[in-house]
Parts: sequence; C-alpha cells; structure tokens
Amino acid sequence: MKRIDHWIDGRTVASTSGRTSPVFDPSTGEQTAEVGLATTDEVEAAVASAVAAFPEWRATSLSRRSEVMFRLRELVDANRKEIASLLTAEHGKVLSDSLGEVARGLENIEFACGIPQLIKGEYSEQASAGVDVHSIRQPIGVVAGITPFNFPAMVPMWMFANALACGNTFVLKPSEKDPSVNLFVAELLATAGLPDGCFNVVQGDRDAVEAILAHDDVAAVSFVGSTPIARHVYETGTANGKRVQALGGAKNHMLVLADADLDAAADAAVSAGYGSAGERCMAISVVLAAEEIADDLVAKVAERASAVTVGAGTDPDSEMGPLVTGEHRDRVRGYVDGAAEGGATVVVDGREGVPDGGFFLNPTLLDGVEPGMACYDDEIFGPVLSVMRVGGYQEGVEVINANPYANGTAIFTRDGGAARRFQFDVEVGMVGVNVPVPVPVSYYSFGGWKASLFGDTHMYGPDGIAFCTRGKVVTSRWPDPATSTVDLGFPETR
Ligand code: NAD
Repeated sequence: MKRIDHWIDGRTVASTSGRTSPVFDPSTGEQTAEVGLATTDEVEAAVASAVAAFPEWRATSLSRRSEVMFRLRELVDANRKEIASLLTAEHGKVLSDSLGEVARGLENIEFACGIPQLIKGEYSEQASAGVDVHSIRQPIGVVAGITPFNFPAMVPMWMFANALACGNTFVLKPSEKDPSVNLFVAELLATAGLPDGCFNVVQGDRDAVEAILAHDDVAAVSFVGSTPIARHVYETGTANGKRVQALGGAKNHMLVLADADLDAAADAAVSAGYGSAGERCMAISVVLAAEEIADDLVAKVAERASAVTVGAGTDPDSEMGPLVTGEHRDRVRGYVDGAAEGGATVVVDGREGVPDGGFFLNPTLLDGVEPGMACYDDEIFGPVLSVMRVGGYQEGVEVINANPYANGTAIFTRDGGAARRFQFDVEVGMVGVNVPVPVPVSYYSFGGWKASLFGDTHMYGPDGIAFCTRGKVVTSRWPDPATSTVDLGFPETR
C-alpha cells in the first residue's frame, strides 16, 4: 500500500504514530494509499523547522522573494496536468474541473509575485520640524494553514503564496482525505528556490490541528473547512493568543426574478449546483424561484440535471465525478431520503441509475423545500439542488438574510435596479449578478459573513497581505545628512 508522508525541513519524513487514514480512488471506491497521521512531536518538528528558517527568509530581499514566486508560477503552470491528475485521483472531481482548480490557485501565486508593490508602507516627510514618519509591514513568523478536502491544491495556495511572499514561514496541515498533491507542490517550491524549512506539510487529523493550535511558536492560523470546526479553531486559536481567520461552511442561494433569462439561469443553476458534485463552498444549493416562473424554471433545470454525464473524473466525457468518500455519499443520500419523507418533491432522483463501483450519486433536484427541513437547514455538500418558491425580490432577500450562513449568493435578473438593490440589501460576503459562483479574483479577497467566517480578515488578496503581516510605524529625526561615498557601480537590489 502506498504511504503518504510529511514534508519537513525540505524532505519527506514518515510518520511514526502508527495511526493512518485511508485514501481512496472515489471513482472505484478502492483504497489506493494510506496517509500517516502526525504525532504532536511531528508537528513540533515541522514548527521547529519553520521557526529556524524564519530569520533568514524574512531577511531575504523582496526581489528575491518575488523571484521565487515567479519561478513557482512557471513550475505550477508547466505542471498543471500533473497536479490536476493528482487531484482527480484522490478527490474524484473531473479533470477539467481539476485544471480549473489549478488555474484559480495559480492566480494567487501570480498575485504574490507582486509582493514588492503589495507590502509598501507610507511615508510622511516633515511630520514635525525635522521629523519624518513612515510605516512598514513586517511578517509575523510561522503561519499555519489547515485546509479542507474539496480544493486540496487551490485553498493551500490561497494561504501560503501570500504568507511566504510576505516573509513568513509556513506549516500546512491538509485534509487527510486527499493529501498527496501538497507533497508535489512542496517539491515545486523547493525547485523554485525556497529554502528548506520555509514550507512544511504535516499530514494529520484533529490531533495535528490541536497541536498546531496549542503551539506557542505558531503566530497565525488560516483555516478553511466546516463551520463547527472553523468556530472551534477560531475560539481555541485566539484564546491561545494567535491571529486566526477561519472560513466555514455555506448555504448559497440563487434568487431568480421573473424577468430573468430562464435558460441562462437554468444553465447557471445546473453548473453551479452540480459542478464538482456540489462539493464547493460556493456551490449554489438553493434556487429561490419567483412564483410566476418557478414551474418553467424547475422544468428547465430538471431537463439539464438529467442530462449531466456522471462518471470517473479521468473519463473526458464525464461532467461530474463521484463524492469524496462512501461515508460522505451516504450522508448526502440520507438528505435526499429525508427530503422525500419530509414533504419535498424529488423532481430528479439522483439515487437512481448511479454508475457502478465508486462513491457516486447523480444530480438530484428537490422542489417545495422549506426552512425547517434538514435538506434546507444543513449544508449538504453534494449534488443536491433545492428549489424554494418565493413571492418575489423582497421575500427572496428575507430568506437569504435569515439564513445563518452567508458565504455567497447570486441574483438572476435583467433589472439593473433590482440587482443594485440586491448588492445593497443582502447580508452575504460574496455576491453575483447573473454570475452563479462569484469567487473573487485573486486581487480581491475571499470571505463570507456570519457563520461562514470567523475572524476579521478575509482570505487572499489585500486582506491576505494584512493577515500575514503586522504594521510598524517609525518616527525619526536626523540632525544632518548622512555621510556618503562615491560608487560608480550600477545599484543592485540583492
Ligand atoms: P472539515 O471541517 O471536516 O475539515 C477541515 C479541516 O479540519 C481538515 O484539515 C480536517 O482534518 C480538520 N478537522 C476535521 N475535524 C476536525 C476536528 N474535530 N478537530 C480539528 N480539526 C478537524 O471540512 P471538509 O469536510 O474537509 O471540507 C468541507 C467543508 O469545508 C464544507 O463545510 C465547506 O463549505 C467548507 N469549505 C469552506 C470554504 C470557504 O471558503 N468558506 C472553502 C472550502 C470548503
């Protein structure tokens, strides 16, 4: 059985805990590897390596840190297919979707290439007679990232690209369900010229997370995962004096007004609801359909949902792959069972006709869904789209704002005034106007509101730079110009 190890201090290190977790090929259901789960000592070794690497890395010039990011950008670009196939092998998503994940992750590395510009401070000359004031942003030390199974490459890139470019060192604790890809990324970082110890990967489960949260030398923790764990990580990490940003789960609504282009809305609902088998925190899980057009819209979504080709992620004909584990597939299917028993209409029944073997569930469409049903109240995180009928704009916004989650939302309409009102009224962190999956580009920041994010900063983009640095203000007075020497050489930066 293939063993998946840690990456500590620039090399692979096997776990000695004796505890392992299985890794599956979700398209066949077969176990393909086992990942060693870290002991507290192994987490300690990874943090110690990051602590030791920090002084030299933070003193490395901005030009050089930027150069490492540019090199990494080229390496990830050249290895897109290799990375995508690692994602498909352990997560199950179709190859085109895996390539999309790599592309969106790469954008965060590209953003970090601009670190000399991003980390600039401010300067005020003559704040007082002969006194100048300037501000600088400095790295905070060891930043830890704890990431979910659904974007095994992109979410770590959200975190480590900015953290490293800012001069921090990094310890990543990926999901134990699909852990291989980050070992490959660690090798690319080393090839790009990142010194040993600056980037470490500890494989593990809750024990590794608790060890990170308790470690005095971890200055900050970036977390992405489900809401209960996000809350726990935020509360424990901040109680231990760490800076924490913890992104949680979601229930994303798409409000379709009566004047919307219904074919475009149906295309969007199916793409956003079933892409990556619904295992995206920005997936649309609820369509709020204006009463007048609800029957037409449900028919159009049903037709498209039934036509989605489901199969192994490696098959170029597959549009949707399996779920990540059998346990998760059974949980998602349980919500469909419960919805049928609880009075919702199963318009497209994804429990039928599933491909043999792996952890499959076909696209499922539920109608007549109401708050109070588990399929509405809980985050399902699978290929299950619920339709709720609403009187119009006002009721739609009230439903969205009453939901405890507030990650993403979208409105579909031809009415610019309604769209503008929506962005003003809706209490959600990321909003789409005729765009169903409004994941911000890398030069904005990603984050939900309410139970979808704990902490003060959103992730990546400008907020990512703020999270990975702390400000310092210097007030200075110099009685005379400094002494100078003659040097005819061309000035160098590093
Ligand atoms: P998860 O919460 O089960 O796991 C996330 C991380 O926490 C993993 O590294 C896991 O090993 C660790 N973990 C799990 N249980 C733990 C425990 N009891 N104590 C300490 N650590 C623990 O999430 P998941 O199933 O891997 O990912 C899916 C979830 O992530 C969904 O809820 C989804 O909405 C969310 N998500 C959110 C975003 C976002 O940006 N808001 C993005 C992607 C995924």
